[in-house]
Amino acid sequence: MKNHNSAKNPLDIAIVGGGISGVYSAYRLINGRPKTPGNPEKKLAKDQPKIEIFERENRIGGRLLSMTPPGMPKTRCELGGMRFTDQQVLASNLINHFGLKFVPQEVFQPENIAYLRGRHIRKQDSLDPLKIPYRMNWAEQSIPTNELTLYAMSQIVPGLKEKHGEELDQLLQNTTFEGKPLYQYGFWNLLERTLSREAYAFITESGGYDSATGNYNAVDTIKLNFDFVPGVKFHMLKDGFESLPIKIAEAFEKDGGNIHMGWTMSHFDMVELEDGSHGVCLYFYPTGGDDDDLTKVYARNMVLAMPRRSLELIESKNAFFEDETLQALIKTVDPVPLFKIFVAYNYPWWRTKEGALKTGRSTTDLPVRQCYYWSVENEQEGADPNNQHSVLLGSYDDDRSVRYWQGFEDKAAGQPLYEVQKELMDTDHELDEFELSKWEDHKATKSMIAEIHRQLVELHGQKTAPKPYAAAYKNWSEDPYGGGVNFWKIHVKSWEVMPKMVHPVEKLPVFVIGEAYSRVQGWVEGALQTSELLLQDHFKLDPPAWVPEGE
Ligand SMILES: Cc1cc2nc3c(=O)[nH]c(=O)nc-3n(C[C@H](O)[C@H](O)[C@H](O)COP(=O)(O)OP(=O)(O)OC[C@H]3O[C@@H](n4cnc5c(N)ncnc54)[C@H](O)[C@@H]3O)c2cc1C
Repeated sequence: MKNHNSAKNPLDIAIVGGGISGVYSAYRLINGRPKTPGNPEKKLAKDQPKIEIFERENRIGGRLLSMTPPGMPKTRCELGGMRFTDQQVLASNLINHFGLKFVPQEVFQPENIAYLRGRHIRKQDSLDPLKIPYRMNWAEQSIPTNELTLYAMSQIVPGLKEKHGEELDQLLQNTTFEGKPLYQYGFWNLLERTLSREAYAFITESGGYDSATGNYNAVDTIKLNFDFVPGVKFHMLKDGFESLPIKIAEAFEKDGGNIHMGWTMSHFDMVELEDGSHGVCLYFYPTGGDDDDLTKVYARNMVLAMPRRSLELIESKNAFFEDETLQALIKTVDPVPLFKIFVAYNYPWWRTKEGALKTGRSTTDLPVRQCYYWSVENEQEGADPNNQHSVLLGSYDDDRSVRYWQGFEDKAAGQPLYEVQKELMDTDHELDEFELSKWEDHKATKSMIAEIHRQLVELHGQKTAPKPYAAAYKNWSEDPYGGGVNFWKIHVKSWEVMPKMVHPVEKLPVFVIGEAYSRVQGWVEGALQTSELLLQDHFKLDPPAWVPEGE
């Protein structure tokens, strides 16, 4: 057993988890004047507080993971989070604060494809309820299909269209449906009562996600659906979403903080520090190495900046995990499986019509579900049309479809992997070794690529297409994430649980932050929201300039 420090000389705050919530909180804390939680009169440290981040992976970013495909040096592929919206004030203001460049992301493009029930329809036409292969009822036949979800939500919560922010929250929390509060329903339960079976099938199958119409808590899922109504503007970071946590982590180190990568926390104990105060002793082993090779770290406070599944993987024999309140709180959310795969080709074979299929997405009820036209390089006039390296976000899917792709994941059974096919790759570019190794950490099996490729060809109504030269994927259900995002369960009042979960066991200096127990689940915004609760309510930091009043 090694000692990183001693009970006499503990850290002020140990942050476990180097995702956006961990690095953001660390950066804010080192630059603020944190007070002792529970004792707002007392500054936590005489000088600058001693704060260190411990991250199990050899990279910063967690579920923000950007990479450059081989042969496409100008492109960043987002295997994790990819975009933010104008309405997300914490995320967009923070991005501006760090001066990161961003570009708009198009989603709806009239010429793109909806391939449903074996029929190819242009997205524009799929807005017309009479042109889709679904038998809408009489009332639904007069509603443009992109307004169906809003129509159903307005049936459930009259007056909701006119509300925003806090007013919308209040309305959702106070509305009842047949005498029962909304939070006691799943969204699917209510959609089944307000839409025909066919309309429900259409919004789910054409919308790209199962979870958005799934049976998670109705209050929170209705809120989530507002992020995808017509008119919402999306943006992506030019250098990749991962560049945000990396930039913040660099600023934290510059300001005197320490980051340890490749350190996995196995467990922790509540201890008395040498000055008689309560503290925590954390035990780490080198990721992928011997879990008996432990290093002890003492701290006055510990922040667990991670989702539900990661919390559950920590050995739980201590006063924190044995607390009944914590036990109940931890189970209030469900991890939602998410899957992404990028597939690179020598040229954009899917483009058959001038101007079509250049940006945005096509959707389908095939398990690939959503295909984004991500990037094409070397498009300038006069360039060789057979050497325009192109990459598709070939599939972005969730819940049930992730189970489908798991059928091709059998790496353990020794299935051959799809290596970068250098012989198929038409390129003058030198491959960047660092980026190549990052890409190669996410290889799929040959059988998975064959099936993805087959479905992409079918989605585009073609008979054949040239083979991809490279692919990279991630199934976020794998440990330590358990899912790509987390959704509140039915019967939970998220607005009460969220603040409790930040400091679940009052007498212990252990805090929990991140997307999972936030009210903007599925987004970086949610991770920042719970971080601000920690910083302002417990460590008594003033809100920074980029946090609007009341957030
Ligand atoms: C496919 C996908 C698409 C998404 N799309 C978007 C999007 O477009 N826009 C958006 O805003 N958000 C999106 N999100 C959500 C967004 O990525 C998350 O909300 C955010 O990144 C979560 O940050 P976090 O700090 O809460 O947790 P995480 O990023 O999960 O960070 C947790 C960290 O803790 C570490 N850790 C876990 N256990 C231990 C341990 N025992 N010891 C040490 N370290 C540990 C992990 O390695 C990880 O780095 C998406 C997510 C996915 C997966």
